[in-house]
Amino acid sequence: MAAALKRTGRHDFVVLERGPDIGGTWHWNTYPGCACDVPSHLYSFSFAPNPEWSQTYSPQPEIRAYLQRCADAFGLRAHLRLRQAMTSAAWDEDAQRWRIATDRGALRARVLVSGVGALTEPRLPDVPGLEGFPGPAFHCVQWAHDVDLSGRRVAAIGTGASAIQFVPAIQPRVGRLHVVQRTAPWVVPHSSRPITDLERRLYRALPALQRLVRGGVYAAREALALGFTKDPRLLGVLETLARRHRERQVSDPRLRELVTPAYAMGCKRILPSNHWYPALQEPNVELLVGGLREVRGSSIVTGDGEQREVDAIVFGTGFRVTDPPVARLVRGRGGHTLAEAWAGSMRAYLGTSVAGFPNLFLLLGPNTGLGHSSVVYMIESQIAHVLRALRAMDARGAAVAEVRPAAQQRFVAFVDDRMRHTVWSTGCTSWYIDGTGRNSTLWPDFTFRFRRRAARFDPSAYELRAARPSAPAGAKPVGAPAVG
Ligand SMILES: Cc1cc2nc3c(=O)[nH]c(=O)nc-3n(C[C@H](O)[C@H](O)[C@H](O)COP(=O)(O)OP(=O)(O)OC[C@H]3O[C@@H](n4cnc5c(N)ncnc54)[C@H](O)[C@@H]3O)c2cc1C
Repeated sequence: MAAALKRTGRHDFVVLERGPDIGGTWHWNTYPGCACDVPSHLYSFSFAPNPEWSQTYSPQPEIRAYLQRCADAFGLRAHLRLRQAMTSAAWDEDAQRWRIATDRGALRARVLVSGVGALTEPRLPDVPGLEGFPGPAFHCVQWAHDVDLSGRRVAAIGTGASAIQFVPAIQPRVGRLHVVQRTAPWVVPHSSRPITDLERRLYRALPALQRLVRGGVYAAREALALGFTKDPRLLGVLETLARRHRERQVSDPRLRELVTPAYAMGCKRILPSNHWYPALQEPNVELLVGGLREVRGSSIVTGDGEQREVDAIVFGTGFRVTDPPVARLVRGRGGHTLAEAWAGSMRAYLGTSVAGFPNLFLLLGPNTGLGHSSVVYMIESQIAHVLRALRAMDARGAAVAEVRPAAQQRFVAFVDDRMRHTVWSTGCTSWYIDGTGRNSTLWPDFTFRFRRRAARFDPSAYELRAARPSAPAGAKPVGAPAVG
């Protein structure tokens, strides 16, 4: 967003980041084995191709370094306010400004862009006895690097996208590893491989070649959307691949049964790994099922009543996605918060604008997540929409843009209707579904369809209001503070 603002000649903005450095997901997640599971040629900015990736799927340090380089290359450092968290934001209708409170002073802004991410707030299971556990217990996003797990008895809670990465990475050094599973994931072979020197030289010399490869990755991923969003039966080929992978890698029939998923493939995130099943079969590893029920003193107790004494607990239990804390921080016209407006189920026009919240744009807002491709593509599509909105405001001399409730309702009705045909509606329990039973997180169609819609700025969808006489003069181009 910041790079796009600068590219379009808008320099009057600040970026608030509560952490000590930029990188977001790739700054905070430093757990062993952390990597993206979408090929890097696609999981990167379209406007900043990186010929230097060392792997087809990059490890976390490389992605963080890439983001740092982008901040330098696009001259963003001067706009950053690090270690400054937004603690609240309230729309001031008289001043037509956002009044933003931070832990280091207040700001006023004409436009507020939320870039707080979707997978940011760790979710810990609400199990009795956890507070009394005498040893270290931490979520993988807050990996305690000062805790030496060598030779220790460790419980790994969860078998999702993070656990599947850190379990094989820590298995060789821990004493015993008790992996606690609630639901078996669908696991497919991982196609990650080192990128050769020759490939890197070619990408450096021929940027068009890298763009071509990116296009190929995009198309292959979009083909998956057919199975996810149109007809889940099309995921049959992938299902066969996953079954063969399991049969090839897991010889013990009992373990194989325990790791066999009992829901439609794709209903929860499909996980790529060549090391997960082998790790589970190492002599120091035990798979426990039934989820974590309780912590009793220094022991974990599973839903099946199995009890194991451990020295440390690591949670790979995901994030608070459907009730993002930022929703309680932002108050719109009339003084109600986003959380109140949403009443348990996030809704936004194009996943970006919310009726009653003027001049607010949410990146990675409701229904912009993906099960099959790079969310960077979705974020860039939303950024294009924000830029169009700013341009429309400038062109019409408007101080305020607010999406009309009817436009938002139409969009949400479209999303809900499409959602009914997706694999995510086949009945599994997943973090995609909110407390009201709606899938308010994922985009239920091809991503290029989202881009096409977002790239347009339909003036009839928004109410554009001129500056009030009482509001501060607003003739200069709209500046946009961004959070996150
Ligand atoms: C381990 C992991 C692996 C992932 N792998 C993939 C993948 O392979 N492919 C994919 O498409 N997606 C992946 N994701 C999703 C990933 O989050 C997004 O791809 C992407 O990082 C989102 O970028 P963002 O800038 O929107 O948000 P983030 O990267 O989450 O950054 C948000 C930032 O906002 C800051 N912030 C939050 N609240 C405030 C506040 N109140 N004030 C100030 N600052 C605040 C946070 O500190 C954070 O730095 C992964 C996520 C995780 C956790």
